[in-house]
Amino acid sequence: KPFFTLLCGARVFAPRDMGIQNILIAGDKIAAVCPTATAPTNYPCQIVDLTDCILMPGFIDSHVHITGGGGEGGFATRTPEILLSQITTSGVTTVVGCLGTDGTTRSVINLLAKTRGLCAEGISAYMYTGAYELPTPTITGSVRSDIIIIDKIIGTGEIAMSDHRSAQPTCQEYKNLAAQARVGGMLSSKAGIVDMHIGDGKSGLSMLFEITANSEIPKSQFIPTHINRNQQLLIEGIKWAKQGGIMDITSGVSPESGSVQAVKPSQAAKRALENGVATTNITMSSDGNGSVPLFDATGNTIGVGVASQKSMLQEIRDMIKTEKIAPDTAIKFVTSNVAGILKLSQKGQVKESFDADFTVVDKDFQLKHVWARGQHMVDNGQAIVFGTFEQNSL
Ligand code: ZN
Repeated sequence: KPFFTLLCGARVFAPRDMGIQNILIAGDKIAAVCPTATAPTNYPCQIVDLTDCILMPGFIDSHVHITGGGGEGGFATRTPEILLSQITTSGVTTVVGCLGTDGTTRSVINLLAKTRGLCAEGISAYMYTGAYELPTPTITGSVRSDIIIIDKIIGTGEIAMSDHRSAQPTCQEYKNLAAQARVGGMLSSKAGIVDMHIGDGKSGLSMLFEITANSEIPKSQFIPTHINRNQQLLIEGIKWAKQGGIMDITSGVSPESGSVQAVKPSQAAKRALENGVATTNITMSSDGNGSVPLFDATGNTIGVGVASQKSMLQEIRDMIKTEKIAPDTAIKFVTSNVAGILKLSQKGQVKESFDADFTVVDKDFQLKHVWARGQHMVDNGQAIVFGTFEQNSL
């Protein structure tokens, strides 16, 4: 593969609309974004024509069960590990891995190994330490130390709240956890985010409001996710975001995918904007590769499925095409907003010296190409780079 690649003629949303640009990739970085950028003379350079395409920063998916999730229906319902091409063919170039309900048969060390594996295979990956429960499992014995000592760990999560599967912690216990994440993040120049799984429980976000009202922990320390899982939670999420918090929409939670009480993600984003939430306070993640358990009224599992990350691009498309949200706004929800909140300083923008991560779609927002750290991963909608065991099985 040549060191230089020139991407020609795409309409670039950086996420700001920059019109038609050429982009020069040097190694894994963006060397130039300019309408007249050309291939360097005297060096080999691959040239790719992207006329009529839309080029965005590679999507950052801040909530992915990369080692598998689920298990709520017994051992046979544990979902398998994610594969590299499942990620890239979803238009995603950066993932943040997390455990979930099961912090017993799944371990934080295993999650770290998978995180490193995905990086070795070509994308960018980070992770949260912990699982649903409190006290939450760690590698070093504390959330704070994990964040400080282990490069890939940028926060803790997903911690369950307002859910029958949570450890039913008190506000004080959540506060202690958030304090560890906050100080751990400060001492290591990381976000120290607490990624909060919010369930269908009646208490909704009330504990989060109480925790942030009665401590020095700012709302920005938390990312409450699955905020579109029911109407009432969306209303509370909008209130939270208008007070400066982040509301994270889950693209995989939708009436179309069987969550009958959920608000379709693209419509949830529209509602938030109409109700005055700042465009910077909305993010969207997929909950990809986790199980999608279905419960009856008394909490018994009645079925299970696996969530795909492909819902992210579908919902971005629906935000733009159906809900008429401006493209530069919708694209922020999965790029620059996420990079900012997670303090991923080289990610989320098409900008000189940033990582060469791109998601390229046609005018109908169908995936055409993906570059991750300068490597062409998806060509004409098809994966061209695969994980170690995707094509090497007997
Ligand atoms: Zn969750």
